[in-house]
Amino acid sequence: MKILVTGGTGYIGSHTCLALISAGFEPVIIDNLCNSKLSVLDRIEEVSGMRPLFYQGDIRDAELLDSIFSEQNIQGVIHFAALKAVGESTQKPYEYFENNISGTLTLLGAMRRAGCYRFIFSSSATVYGDPHAVPIKEDFPRSTMSPYGRTKLMIEQMLEDIEVAEPNWSITLLRYFNPIGAHESGRMGEDPQGIPNNLMPYITQVAIGRRDCLNIFGNDYPTPDGTCVRDYIHVMDLAEGHVKALEVCGHKSGLHIYNLGTGNGVSVLQMVHAFAKASGLEINYKIVDRRPGDVSECWADPSKAQKELGWKATRTLADMTADSWRWQKNNPNGYEA
Ligand code: NAD
Ligand code: UDP
Repeated sequence: MKILVTGGTGYIGSHTCLALISAGFEPVIIDNLCNSKLSVLDRIEEVSGMRPLFYQGDIRDAELLDSIFSEQNIQGVIHFAALKAVGESTQKPYEYFENNISGTLTLLGAMRRAGCYRFIFSSSATVYGDPHAVPIKEDFPRSTMSPYGRTKLMIEQMLEDIEVAEPNWSITLLRYFNPIGAHESGRMGEDPQGIPNNLMPYITQVAIGRRDCLNIFGNDYPTPDGTCVRDYIHVMDLAEGHVKALEVCGHKSGLHIYNLGTGNGVSVLQMVHAFAKASGLEINYKIVDRRPGDVSECWADPSKAQKELGWKATRTLADMTADSWRWQKNNPNGYEA
């Protein structure tokens, strides 16, 4: 069964290709390589034994999408392709709306023309804004604090409206918490361009000596140690969640919504200590001002996915930190090495 994976050479998409291949699916990738490298395909082949079909191009290119759907017997789409840097989205809101929203609409149009109605969307815990309570359940109110977050929320709302009007769709919204870690082989992982925005790649780059010092954004939050608490999930657990969603929801029309998280909150300082333990290295850090827009606590209630999809994150914080470190240590310059 061929699955079109948009953004399939990116961080989560590439790991999901591995999980799809393990489960017997055949990923077909479209990616414009604006935030990933072609050599990811070599690594997917090396790790999985299968080289996915690859189309280098843009999801806003309707003609290209039509030709992919006519050349390949695509049975479903997992839609990762998006711009995802929260800070950058406040500087370039037009680019974020144009890429993420126009791109999704163009993709949905091509799917309709091809008669393919099985769709899984990469959403985010960012749609919960500053949650009134933790753990967060799927029916919590939504609000967002950045143009990036608004692209996710607006796409969720568009998909909800489409599903009501066109009940033949099977639409699954997967709301990711904080994906970290890397494939256990150490051959695939996260390879951010420039200065990392996210905590884990920043820590690994301090550990490898590419950066001097981690800035911890605030230690005066109302949390046990004053630093923000998040739900970090191993990228392979997340990848396997997509396969479960495809297997379970792909056969049911309607709208399906799941949190993909572990249900455990981990503070920034706890993460620094866990990484130091996994790597045997001291991580140089200093406390700086809060980062605008950060919420103090955000973690999932993942019980709906467990009950309905039979999926549960199994990898521990020790696994996540060890795998992140193995990837960074073996590939100091990411996929360029
Ligand atoms: P990523 O940047 O590594 O992967 C996204 C891929 O999409 C990249 O390879 C990029 O080249 C490609 N792409 C972007 N715009 C495109 C376009 N118009 N046409 C074709 N390809 C395009 O990001 P990721 O971390 O793997 O995230 C994947 C998805 O998950 C995104 O939708 C992101 O918003 C969402 N998400 C990520 C996180 C996270 O922390 N990483 C959390 C929640 C949700
Ligand atoms: N963080 C930090 N220093 C960094 C990057 C992140 O202290 O260089 C903190 C950030 O304030 C947040 C947590 O780490 O509390 C996770 O941030 P990240 O950007 O990875 O994910 P977010 O939850 O914001 O999407």
